[in-house]
Amino acid sequence: MSSRITLRRLPQLLRLLENSTGKAQYLSNIKYITPPISGRLRHVRCLSTKLSQQCEEVEKREFQAETKMLLDIVARSLYSEREVFIRELISNASDALEKFRYKVLSGEIQEQDRKLEIRISTDKANRLLIIQDTGIGMTKDELIANLGTIAKSGSKAFLEELKNKGAKSDQSNNIIGQFGVGFYSAFMVSDKVEVFTRAVGGEGYLWTSDGTGSYEIKQAKDVEFGTKIVLHLKSNCREYSEEYAVKKVIEKYSNFVGSPILLNNVRANTIEPLWMKNPKEVTETQHGEFYRYIGNSFDNPRYVIHYSTDVPLSIKALLYISESKPPVFEMSRDTDPGVALYTRKILIKSKARSVLPVYLRFLKGVVDCEDIPLNLSRELLQNSRLIANLRKTLTTKVLRFLQDQMNKDPEKYNKFYLGFNPFLKEGIVTTDDPKEREDVAALLRYESSKTEAGKTISLMDYIKSMKENQKDIFYIAAPSRELAQSSPYYESLKAKDMNVLFCYDPYDELVLMQLRTYKDKTIKSVETELRQDTSATNIADLGENCLRRSQIEELSKWLKTTLEGRIHDIRAVGNLDSHPCVVTVEEMAAARHFLRTSGLHLPLNDQYAILKPQLDINPKNPLIRKLYELMTKDQKLAKLLANQLFVNSMISAGLVQNPQVVVSSINELLEKALEKV
Ligand code: ADP
Ligand code: MG
Repeated sequence: MSSRITLRRLPQLLRLLENSTGKAQYLSNIKYITPPISGRLRHVRCLSTKLSQQCEEVEKREFQAETKMLLDIVARSLYSEREVFIRELISNASDALEKFRYKVLSGEIQEQDRKLEIRISTDKANRLLIIQDTGIGMTKDELIANLGTIAKSGSKAFLEELKNKGAKSDQSNNIIGQFGVGFYSAFMVSDKVEVFTRAVGGEGYLWTSDGTGSYEIKQAKDVEFGTKIVLHLKSNCREYSEEYAVKKVIEKYSNFVGSPILLNNVRANTIEPLWMKNPKEVTETQHGEFYRYIGNSFDNPRYVIHYSTDVPLSIKALLYISESKPPVFEMSRDTDPGVALYTRKILIKSKARSVLPVYLRFLKGVVDCEDIPLNLSRELLQNSRLIANLRKTLTTKVLRFLQDQMNKDPEKYNKFYLGFNPFLKEGIVTTDDPKEREDVAALLRYESSKTEAGKTISLMDYIKSMKENQKDIFYIAAPSRELAQSSPYYESLKAKDMNVLFCYDPYDELVLMQLRTYKDKTIKSVETELRQDTSATNIADLGENCLRRSQIEELSKWLKTTLEGRIHDIRAVGNLDSHPCVVTVEEMAAARHFLRTSGLHLPLNDQYAILKPQLDINPKNPLIRKLYELMTKDQKLAKLLANQLFVNSMISAGLVQNPQVVVSSINELLEKALEKV
């Protein structure tokens, strides 16, 4: 007789194997994985194993051919770190306890006075690690089916049975196993594994194997209810017979397992998995403790994002933003992220890089996603669509949460913004998803020409304040409010009573340049506006104290020759009030950035050739009028003055990197002026 095994999870198993290293040669041997298997339930005919053999005292059985091959993969390369075998065996023990609990609850089992726990003991002298549970146990048939066949998950079958019976999801939520490979990780570290097990109302059995070709089953006396797994550790794995090493692994991966874990009779898992609880039932103190534990921190969380959803993925997330501002050394993009990825309370990866975008690295906490397999490999973590989906869902959630906070409690939000805005700005520059960029942009705050000093508005507030015929969002980059207000570029918009955002951080203008639009409105610097404003050249009615048109033409011509090689173009404009002249270049922000980063090494002439400055002169300004006079009266002084006006404009524009340029031209001018004294 041959047995039939249902491998419903074959596709998942395959994916899992594909992501383990050294798999290719094995995969090519596994013929049954490819079609003609069809239909939702895939039945695979086993190649060997005579189940009908008579029971003897000791039964020796060969692992099935496929099992042998897969066993090898699991033992050698499925897991990147071998310590995870402890996590796998604890997860199985926890599953066994959950199953027992369920059967008691549903009335299938009467027994109720057993202590439901996981007991782990280390025996250094004999190089043993023993993991015991008081759970459901296995019958002989189950032993053969579950441990004799890899990729056969009794837990998965149990879950399906539950579902068919219409059980509620919170009962099935607690079961971890579903792939049927975890148990074999024991062979990564063991020469021999013994499994003592006894199901309710059944006999005790001992299953033994060295993990190569075969296993043995025999009846055994004095077996306690539940399952006890004895690992005879390989000589190079003796560390796992030492309490401290095992404790470390339990704390790392299994701290949140639902049942008590006792290590050498002392409770080892202590922390409650808060993220699984109903947000309303978690107190502030609990959050504080949990945050400090998970985030290795000493302060309190300022924001708590406790979130749970089933669509499109089943996610439970508990994320924190610290009260204190992250120290400068933690701001680097290389800093480890503070979020750990779990599946059903079991750790998959601490510092999980791909579950949130890098710019949200200031978040600390836990993300638990049921849809992710425990044995998720590193490659899969980076590339899978599942993870991309998870990241997107979480990112949107976090950004929306912050938007809400901004509206609900602006004062608290502003404090957060003060410390964390560089991360948000980094997000705008680094994300390539326009929707996400706009979501981050909604969180920006700036002072503006119409706010009081120190008060900020959002881009949305700005849009609400726009004039009827205003199309663009205007901003000016300046180091302070005073400098922004006195900037020649701001002057003309001020005259038109336009609201202008004031950006004080040097990288703000790069951020806004990258953003380009918000809610379909173009974001424009005041310099660009000034340069593009064609009505600026309307100088018809500038009044008495103004150069005449012919004088302007004369002066412009002279200036063009005098400043040759420095200015590209010259205009007379009517929209400058107190300033004699300004310089504009095509992309002011980009130009400033260029000069800051690489322009220093360029000779001045080359800088001008690249920037192509346009000089706008104000024909009613006294200095410009004086310049016109000097042009004929004192050529030398006129040239010095023209040059100085140009240099001053370049400084106002933030386009001068080398102060030496300024000082030498000022000195020359002073000398000349003092000649007259
Ligand atoms: P998975 O946990 O993904 O189902 P494993 O290889 O870890 O796969 O385990 C295979 C099966 O063996 C489990 O589904 C379960 O039926 C059975 N099993 C393993 N450990 C225990 C245990 N401690 N108690 C009862 N059954 C167990
Ligand atoms: Mg398992």
